[in-house]
Amino acid sequence: MTPNVLVIGAGVIGCSLAFELTRRGAAVTVVDSAEVMSGTSSATFGWINANKKKPVEYELLNMLGLEAHERARDERNIGTADWFHQIGSIELAASTDSLAALEEKVSQLASRGYKARILTRAEVESAEPSLDVLNVAGGALYPKEGWIDALTMCSHLMNAARAQGATFKPFRRVIGLTLDGETTMSTADGLTESVKPDVTILAAGNGNRPILASAGIGFPTRPTLDWASTGHEYPSVGIITTTSPVDAGIRHMIHSPGVAIRPARNGGVTLTDAPTGAQWSHDDPRVWGVPTLLLERAQKLYPSLKSTTTENVTLGTRVLPDDGVTIADWVGEEQKVYAIATHSGVTLAGHLADAVASEVLDGTRHESLGPFGLDRFAS
Ligand SMILES: Cc1cc2nc3c(=O)[nH]c(=O)nc-3n(C[C@H](O)[C@H](O)[C@H](O)COP(=O)(O)OP(=O)(O)OC[C@H]3O[C@@H](n4cnc5c(N)ncnc54)[C@H](O)[C@@H]3O)c2cc1C
Repeated sequence: MTPNVLVIGAGVIGCSLAFELTRRGAAVTVVDSAEVMSGTSSATFGWINANKKKPVEYELLNMLGLEAHERARDERNIGTADWFHQIGSIELAASTDSLAALEEKVSQLASRGYKARILTRAEVESAEPSLDVLNVAGGALYPKEGWIDALTMCSHLMNAARAQGATFKPFRRVIGLTLDGETTMSTADGLTESVKPDVTILAAGNGNRPILASAGIGFPTRPTLDWASTGHEYPSVGIITTTSPVDAGIRHMIHSPGVAIRPARNGGVTLTDAPTGAQWSHDDPRVWGVPTLLLERAQKLYPSLKSTTTENVTLGTRVLPDDGVTIADWVGEEQKVYAIATHSGVTLAGHLADAVASEVLDGTRHESLGPFGLDRFAS
C-alpha cells in the first residue's frame, strides 16, 4: 500500500523529505504557512561542513550530511551542480599562536577522517590571489567544504518531488495536531481543513514547537518565535549580509577572525560573523551596525570589495534544540507523528531526508540517528 505522508514545512528539511519520500514511492503532500523557503532556510549562510561540531556523534552526522550532497550530485538528477558549490573553505590564522592552534585542530579533524590540511602563508596567497595576506600567518584548507544556494536547492527538490507526484499547498498554517496524526490547518481565506494522513512529519523549524503544544507536547527547542509573548528574550538571531555584484576574485569560502565570506547567488559576496554562531535578540539596536562592520572586515581582506556596498541584510532565527543538536524521532507511541528540528540543517538535509524516509517508510532507524532521539530529554 502506498503510504500517505503529510510534510509540514517547506524549508530545506521539508523539500529534501518531499523529494526523498516520493522517490521511494510515498504519496506526499507538503504544506507551509507561507511559500517554499520562507523560514530559517531563507536566512542561512549555507556552509556545508562538519568542522567544529560537537559531540563527536554530531560531527559524524554532519559528515554524512556532506556525503549525502556529494551522492546527490553524483547519482541523482536534481541539478545539484547548480546549488552545491563545493569550492573548499580556508580558515585563516592571523598570528603564529593561532596558526599553532589551527594545526592542532586540523590534526584532530584529520584523525577522525575529515579532509583538512595546513597552508603556509605563501600557499594561502597562491590559493587566494586577491586576498591581502599582510596580516595572515597561514591557514587551514578544508577541500570538501563549500556552500549551498538553499533557494535553488529547494526549488529543484520541490520540482522533482512534484514530478514524482507530490502536492505542495502554500499558505496552509497548521493550527492543531493530535498524536494519531489528525492535522488541522487554516487557509489564506480564513477557512480551516483537517486531514488524517498515515504519517505526519513536522519539518516546520521554529514552528514545530507551537504545533506540538497543540497536541499537549512540550517540544524541546528554544521558543524563539513567541519570545515577545512570553516576556523572555531568546537571542538566537544570526546576521547574513550580501553585497552588490562584484568581481572580488574569491575562490574559496573564507573564515577569518570576525568575518566569514563566500560567493553569493546574486554575483556579490555573502558575509556573516566568524566564528559563525553569534546570537542576537531581534530588538537589539546593535544588530544594525553589524553589516557595516562585516563589510569593513571583508574589505581589509579583499581590497577588491571596496567598490561594493551592502545590498541585503537578513536576520535568521536559528532552529535550536535545547541541547543544540538535532532531533529526529517519532513523537508518541502511536508512531503517526515524526518531528525533525535541527541547526546545521543545510548541511544535514540530504542525509536526514534519507534516514528519516527509511525510518518512516520501512521502520528501520538509521544508526547515525541513534543519539538524536527525544528520549535524551526524558529526565
Ligand atoms: C544566521 C544563520 C546561519 C546559518 N548558517 C548555516 C550554515 O552555514 N550551514 C548550515 O548547515 N546551517 C546553517 N544554519 C542553519 C540552517 O539554516 C537551519 O538549520 C535550516 O534552515 C532549518 O531548516 P528547516 O527546514 O528545519 O526550517 P525552516 O527553514 O524554518 O522551514 C520551516 C518551514 O515551516 C513553515 N512553518 C512554520 N510553522 C508552520 C505552521 N504552523 N504550519 C505550516 N508551516 C509552518 C515555515 O513557513 C517554513 O517555511 C544557519 C541558520 C542561521 C539562522
